[in-house]
Amino acid sequence: MAYKRVLLKLSGEALMGESRGSSIIDPAVVEAIAGEIREVVRLGVSLGVVIGGGNIFRGVEASSKGMDRTSADYMGMLATVINSLALQSAFEGAGIETRVQTAIAMREIAEPFIQKRAMRHLDKGRVVIFAAGTGNPYFTTDTAAVLRAMEIKADVIMKATKVDGVYDKDPVKHPDAVMYQKISYNDVLAKNLKVMDATAISLCRDNGLPVLVFNLQKSGNIVRGVSGSRVGTLVGD
Ligand code: UDP
Repeated sequence: MAYKRVLLKLSGEALMGESRGSSIIDPAVVEAIAGEIREVVRLGVSLGVVIGGGNIFRGVEASSKGMDRTSADYMGMLATVINSLALQSAFEGAGIETRVQTAIAMREIAEPFIQKRAMRHLDKGRVVIFAAGTGNPYFTTDTAAVLRAMEIKADVIMKATKVDGVYDKDPVKHPDAVMYQKISYNDVLAKNLKVMDATAISLCRDNGLPVLVFNLQKSGNIVRGVSGSRVGTLVGD
């Protein structure tokens, strides 16, 4: 395996699949993700997961319509907990031992985030889902993913998207967009490419954490990514 320990970042919308608008969490999509994760675990790769909340609630959007930003962001963080429990349920259904740890304590449904405890779970081959983002408003789950990746000493952060990797322009709008195989953190920041927000990318750069941006909608891509097969775009130095 190319990577021994991986932090997988999924956006909340990844759980909606194609049925956008009909259901915020599509069980068939979550099951498909669980199937790939089972394969990753079977290969002996240690895995942490951070899931966003954008399928349910985004703080910035609500605050632009007048809601208090801090309250809205806490609502967004709670949305990530709902998604995390959906993932945990599907993972356990697929026979994967899974723990959810939250950045905001809610002990009845999940463990609080404790780095050393997370490490122990990972060392035992359990998947750990990190919920409630960083626990702080004004951050994103991309930044939470980078933070947790560093805390668990992940070799790479795998950022799932709907396109094959990082392009010079939006590939959905521009058919002539060119995908990068590799790109530097500074180029991502200078060209303002939509990989992750600037806080998350600069945190990766300052700590030398590589980011593999890949297409989640192509089945088998998570396994390809962890095993080092050519997939997606690698953001590094
Ligand atoms: N959020 C936050 N602090 C964090 C992580 C998330 O306040 O550390 C809130 C923020 O309002 C954000 C929402 O949670 O809009 C959902 O997260 P995000 O937008 O990153 O989810 P994704 O786009 O990945 O689904």
